[in-house]
Amino acid sequence: AEKGTDRSTLMDILWDVQRRKRYISEDDIGKIGQAFNMSKTELEGVITFYHFFSTTNRGKYTIYLNDSIVANQSGRKAIQRAFEEALGIKLGHVTPDNMFGLYRTPCIGLSDQEPSCLINFKPFTNLTRDRVFEIVTELKSGKRPSELCDIPKSIIHYTPAEERTVFFKPYRQFSSLSILNTYSPEEIIDLVKKSKLTGRGGAFFPTGLKWEFCRNNPSEIKYIICNADEGEPGTFKDRVLMEEHPELMIEGMIFAAYAVGASEGAIYLRAEYMYLRDRLEELLSKYRSQGYLGKGIKAKTPFDFDVYIHMGAGAYVCGEETALIHSMEGKRGEPGTREFFPVEKGFNDRPTIVNNVETLCAVPRILEMGISKYLSLGTKATPGTKLFSVSGDCSKPGMYEIEWGMKLRDFLDLIGAEDPCFILFNGFAGECLSEADFDREISGENLLAEHMQFRFKDPLEYARKMGGIGLRSGGSFMVFNKQRDLLKILKNVADFFVAESCGICVPCRTGNFLLNKKIDKLILGHAEQQDLDEIKEWSNIIKITSRCGLGKMSSTALNHAMLKFPEVFEKRISANTDFNKSFSLEGATADYDRIINEMTLDYD
Ligand code: SF4
Repeated sequence: AEKGTDRSTLMDILWDVQRRKRYISEDDIGKIGQAFNMSKTELEGVITFYHFFSTTNRGKYTIYLNDSIVANQSGRKAIQRAFEEALGIKLGHVTPDNMFGLYRTPCIGLSDQEPSCLINFKPFTNLTRDRVFEIVTELKSGKRPSELCDIPKSIIHYTPAEERTVFFKPYRQFSSLSILNTYSPEEIIDLVKKSKLTGRGGAFFPTGLKWEFCRNNPSEIKYIICNADEGEPGTFKDRVLMEEHPELMIEGMIFAAYAVGASEGAIYLRAEYMYLRDRLEELLSKYRSQGYLGKGIKAKTPFDFDVYIHMGAGAYVCGEETALIHSMEGKRGEPGTREFFPVEKGFNDRPTIVNNVETLCAVPRILEMGISKYLSLGTKATPGTKLFSVSGDCSKPGMYEIEWGMKLRDFLDLIGAEDPCFILFNGFAGECLSEADFDREISGENLLAEHMQFRFKDPLEYARKMGGIGLRSGGSFMVFNKQRDLLKILKNVADFFVAESCGICVPCRTGNFLLNKKIDKLILGHAEQQDLDEIKEWSNIIKITSRCGLGKMSSTALNHAMLKFPEVFEKRISANTDFNKSFSLEGATADYDRIINEMTLDYD
């Protein structure tokens, strides 16, 4: 009743129920469905889309362990066993008294501090067996997760000298906002265009251009959405930005609103970062009390703009902007068909800007430091700096800010990479790098060049053709050494995409399932050359025919690995010893087919 029945409040209501009762009951579904005029099936369709909503009790204390590859390599299994022992249940179960539930989930954004877990969405990092038993004992004695949890602290490294650093240097709240009094909205857009800033969530779409499209839309209502749903395994840069400099994100949103003429904004915060919510709410109140949010914000052209926080509920695909918008509208977070772009028809069918945290944080810094200084950083095609979330086999995991143009080999030295062999450069959806790539530079001109498409005549048309996804470079950087089993890494990647495909299109839903089975065959030593050929062929079909970037990029790592490490795959094929290649499924099921056919005839 408090929230009304505007469908965009549905997720909040589901969260309220889930938090209070630890599940959403039949009775709740009936009442909520009635209030929103939704059928039971439709509402259940929304609830079951998200990992963190449940129709069964997940326990008073719900524990989520990260099952991505870096967590597994950092000892996640031992921590899982410790929890199972301490609680007397297996993973995926709840204790008989409904006190504890133990579950796995994809990456929780703490890859540099694994093994980690979330308990009622509070973070616990660098876990040991003893610490697990201690936590369980304390919770049983009545302590709350908020009293026991850790404050995740990523070590921040930056290579540019402080005056050449864009993000991680001291910042005085509100200081960039004085610029609002100097420039008109069109001038702000012009400055952002000149800076060559591009979307840092992975799509690398030119930010100024996006703002200009939205500005030119005559709609009276426009929205700014900050995409704080970074779910790419291994990525945590947006978390660190929101911990260290949340004011930059808010000020970036204010600039975007001023530039395009938006009056409402939302931060779509991934559920795994729920512990940041109170701090962000406090900060938003501060901006309101200082007159930088709300009615009549002082600027060359005064404007109204406010921001609220919308919680995600666990769905990787909601990082895709149309899926995110559907989620905010209280629907299943399925990507749209791209008939319209959000700047044309977005949230509630109104023009909407969706920008990533890093992109928005860059705006006040660029405006404050001046365009020419910003352009003097990095390279010609990619000025400025880039954030990388580094994890895996290196002695200095953490958050890195580097100037574009750094040699990959130098970057590997910087992070203390140990015997690096295989690198997932852009998380699970990105390029795999091998030793042959170590002399390339990290820039638009080189390492990213094959994805960068700045020379197209009609960017909107290009993006439409590409399904809106160009370069995938969320900033995840996972290093694996020579001792790691490449196929096990690829299996983890494949499991992830099978679990995270929203299922709306067949090539992605079925194709990824089939590729996953091929990897199983390779691991078991049952694969043949034909399997490798089929992997290539099917990957291509998935890439061309999938609706969104998740499907399009899902087999990239596997294909790059096959190209760069052919010997790994060839060895697995020749490893077939006890496997009967001549086995014919058709022959083995011939009798069964005959009986079924006879039965069908009888029936007819
Ligand atoms: Fe959903 Fe995959 Fe299709 Fe994207 S490509 S819309 S995730 S099924």
